Amino acid sequence: MASGIKSKKDKGIFIIYLTAAGLKLAQKLKGGPFPEARLMRFQECRGLRDVWGSALSGLWPEARAILFIGAAGIAVRAVAPLLKNKREDPAVIVMDEKGQNVISLLSGHAGGANRLARETADFLGGNPVITTATDINSLTPVDVFAAGHGFALDPPEALPAVSARQLEKKRLSVYSDSVYSNVGAGLPPDYEEKETPEDADVLITDRLHAAGMRGKKPFLYLRPKDIALGIGFNSGTGADEIEEAVGKVFAEAGFSVFSIGLIATHEKKTTDPELQKFARRHGLKIKGFQSSQLNTVNAAAPSDAAMRALGARAVAEPAAALAGGGGLIIKKQKAGKNITVAAARIGARRRNTLLVVGAGPGGLNHLTPEAIDAIREAEHIVGYKSYLAHIAPLIKGKTLVSSAMTEEVSRVKEAARLASSGKKVCLISGGDPGIYGMAGLAIEMAANTDPDLEVRIIPGISALNACASVLGAPLMHDFAVISLSDRLTPWQVIEERLEAAARADFVTVLYNPKSGGRTTQIERARKIMLAHRDRQTPVGIVRDATREDEEAVITTLEDMPAHEINMRSTVIIGNSMSRRLGDRLMLTPRGYERKYSY
Ligand code: SAH
Repeated sequence: MASGIKSKKDKGIFIIYLTAAGLKLAQKLKGGPFPEARLMRFQECRGLRDVWGSALSGLWPEARAILFIGAAGIAVRAVAPLLKNKREDPAVIVMDEKGQNVISLLSGHAGGANRLARETADFLGGNPVITTATDINSLTPVDVFAAGHGFALDPPEALPAVSARQLEKKRLSVYSDSVYSNVGAGLPPDYEEKETPEDADVLITDRLHAAGMRGKKPFLYLRPKDIALGIGFNSGTGADEIEEAVGKVFAEAGFSVFSIGLIATHEKKTTDPELQKFARRHGLKIKGFQSSQLNTVNAAAPSDAAMRALGARAVAEPAAALAGGGGLIIKKQKAGKNITVAAARIGARRRNTLLVVGAGPGGLNHLTPEAIDAIREAEHIVGYKSYLAHIAPLIKGKTLVSSAMTEEVSRVKEAARLASSGKKVCLISGGDPGIYGMAGLAIEMAANTDPDLEVRIIPGISALNACASVLGAPLMHDFAVISLSDRLTPWQVIEERLEAAARADFVTVLYNPKSGGRTTQIERARKIMLAHRDRQTPVGIVRDATREDEEAVITTLEDMPAHEINMRSTVIIGNSMSRRLGDRLMLTPRGYERKYSY
């Protein structure tokens, strides 16, 4: 891997169009399955041509995928000068301006172009044009399988030969000695697991040669990233020297450097520019430990040099052991006079994960790219019906588990059960999952039912962000957020908090202000506020923020009852400084006007 390459996760989707009809189609795609996409007119990209040699070179390093709306010939000429290899190039798909034919042009497999072409054609009602042989024979490409498990290909050049073999036999035989990779159950139906390495075309192992191999070579190794490299070195050691030392020690011990998943060292060494250069070259993260942490591990061979320079009894071995946690596989080796190398297995096995994803306030433009990616990757989507309706274009073709609002517990239980069984699950929560959302219940449930299940929260834009932006700037000063729902919180507690917020002059955001069955609470809240605030205090009421039916009014505490409020509304009550500007804006000044003149 060359240095300085952005991880694919940080990159975006670009839709390039040429004509007015192309722009329309691009907008349709952005309004549908690709809300995070950036739209660009091809003619405007062209300005860069003289400088860069190709119209698309400016955005090439930023792109994970390019959707080109126009003639395939133009697309081919534009991307041709930029091509490097299938590991680095973005996915490129080309479609005509009516969306009738959607061609997967480049990086069909690991880059995901085939999948994108299918999704796009499916959404537009067009015809996906897929030309990779494995796909048209309904075989699972080995690079797609590898990418799904985080395996590195060793050597990458072997891919065409493996694909040819796969096409010829219509299946692929796989042997795995990796207890850590846990792939047995996850093999695609056209793959066949072998008991002995000699019978397999593809070997999954972090060993240079799987035990039991006599002479015959496999077509390809898939390397699980399951080794933590521990390293200690003197300042001034070059990246190439590190590279050579690690390669030599791993080769002698019989392990593949492709299986290194992270680098572990002393905290003070993590900023060493040469180590960083080595790490970047291989796309690896560096994890640092302080002397006190390293000294908790019994080092077999304490080092005087490490003690003098860093106050640690040893570095390479304890760092590897702490970072990996799965047992030492290479004891400390001295490589030259500057470097020590050791290695440990990472973790015992992959942990199952439940993703709790914030879907934002409703509009497809208001999900974060991380949330969109998580949803796209998921097999199962669990959520409240009406929230799922808002993100319908993103969840087509997935298994849905939806239920009514009051069935949160059973919904979360089902999501946790699916995730525990190894499925990729997104539990969707409207707004932000950590604000009156599903995050808390998911964490409690996981702790009770499967302590091994990891719960990850992906944040979202909460109703308060969306509603504040619609109103202008009502939350410029300290604010309190109170839910008026007394389904889980005693009403007495809610009243006390309203009272405290009113007294302390907090701008107050009210979630769940009113529903079919709860109609009196909002009036009680207004009365409590009126006891401490002027009748003319501005109040913003926003319903369906960011959605098609968005509506907002700015009224006063006095006139509030004249306006409709329901369970899709959020109410923002100003503080003593808040004011209304014109018809549509509400402002709570921060205090700049007292400090500066403008
Ligand atoms: N986790 C969500 C809140 C769930 S509570 C979040 O972070 O936004 C449900 C309440 O959120 C609703 O009763 C309403 O008060 C508010 N809400 C959610 N989406 C909204 C939207 N698009 N516009 C206005 N209010 C909204």
